[in-house]
Amino acid sequence: TKELSGKHVTVAGLGLSGLPAAKVLHRLGARVTAVNGGAGEGPRRQAAELEQLGIEVRLGDDRTLPEGTDLVVTTPGFKPASPLFQAAAAADVPVWGDVELAWRLRGPGSAPWLAVTGTNGKTTTVQMLASILRAAGLRTAAVGNIGVSLIDVVLEQEPYDGLDVLAVELSSYQLHWAPSLRPHSAAVLNLAPDHLDWHGSMEAYAADKGRIYEGNEVACVYNADDTASPTTEELVREADVVEGARAIGFTLGAPGPSQLGVVDGILVDRAFVPHRQQQAQELAEATDVRPAAPHNVANALAAAALARAYGVPATAVRDGLRAFRPDAHRIAHVAEAEGVAYVNDSKATNTHAAEASLAAYDPIVWIAGGLAKGATFDDLVRASAPRLRGAVLMGADRHLIREALARHAPDVPVADLDRTDTGAMAEAVRAAKSLAQPGDTVLLAPACASMDMFVNYNARGDAFAEAVRALAPADARNE
Ligand code: ADP
Repeated sequence: TKELSGKHVTVAGLGLSGLPAAKVLHRLGARVTAVNGGAGEGPRRQAAELEQLGIEVRLGDDRTLPEGTDLVVTTPGFKPASPLFQAAAAADVPVWGDVELAWRLRGPGSAPWLAVTGTNGKTTTVQMLASILRAAGLRTAAVGNIGVSLIDVVLEQEPYDGLDVLAVELSSYQLHWAPSLRPHSAAVLNLAPDHLDWHGSMEAYAADKGRIYEGNEVACVYNADDTASPTTEELVREADVVEGARAIGFTLGAPGPSQLGVVDGILVDRAFVPHRQQQAQELAEATDVRPAAPHNVANALAAAALARAYGVPATAVRDGLRAFRPDAHRIAHVAEAEGVAYVNDSKATNTHAAEASLAAYDPIVWIAGGLAKGATFDDLVRASAPRLRGAVLMGADRHLIREALARHAPDVPVADLDRTDTGAMAEAVRAAKSLAQPGDTVLLAPACASMDMFVNYNARGDAFAEAVRALAPADARNE
């Protein structure tokens, strides 16, 4: 914190992460200028709040670097190619994200970070990890990109005081601007195209994810089952780690040496067992993982690997997984009506996530659509076609899914709602109900972002649940 006192720090962007960053920097004695491109009502209100504290704010220009800036602290809204960063690079001014700032603000002897990134499953995995660490008697919290500011955590604001160890979710944006971050151990869960508009290319996105392994001294956890290029194992190999750091794989199959995996429905560990011990250490039953979808078992193995790297005993892995409850809108069972199950996976906002949840059910009436964010749907539809009873499409980019269905699943009946209003969800659920037969699952796994129709994926999931409950109140059993 001493290094910031008296420095002129430019905070790029107001909003959810810019505002607290500006305040903290100001409190630490920096001279802060917050810059923001928009100058509408919201930014003006936030600017007033900062100005009251004595923080300088510049609205309407986020392209030029304020005179005399020593450091830029940025928020996720700014793409790496932004003119502001070009100006910073030209002036040799460093750029930090919120995670870099938090990392540098840690006090001596502060809690080590067990870090998780990946395209999908991050939130679930850090929550499982926190549950396991808690079962081991450690004081911990799931923090970071999950919605808990790491700056609050490292400054030990209540309730984040006196923690032993942190389960940290990191996004690729955060990793991009966190050059000195060195977690105790780190996992990349999986890699699939997402957010490419921000990073510029799949290579750049993968490279940012891979930064989580940089300088590691203990354990780099990778997904031994992934086939996409580059693989997470390749990211470990490319990282510059300290001698003695181990590469630890997780797999849904039988584990090799230095791996965790699954044998006869049991999660087992062959990585953190005494030297030369032949037998794998049993951790938990696959049915201890909820929901027991394959991708979620993979998340549990990744969480177990990080916990074991931190020295947690096998029994705590089992107890922690049993105590874990998934968050809302992630493969949540809403109700059963006339023999049909209704499952809400509104959080499946990209094709990779939707493919994982579609793999967990059969037969399926699939509700999908929204904002595609540049994705293509051929792989997803090809992989899922054999399990589809029917599909119900809505949202701005639904034609992309309709066309992929026509190419790869021409016999699957499709209800194209041709709507992008919020009320479309009730019609979608009714259409799905008429396509479904007893034993089927109606699955909301949109494979798209929600913002064309809803405020966010929570609102989309809530609308689905509400529509399901309105179907047949008499026999829709809430669970
Ligand atoms: P994130 O924090 O990375 O967005 P979540 O844990 O919130 O991840 O899960 C988001 C969605 O991704 C889930 O609703 C599910 O559809 C899907 N998902 C979860 N874990 C995985 C995984 N390991 N592989 C693929 N998809 C997954």
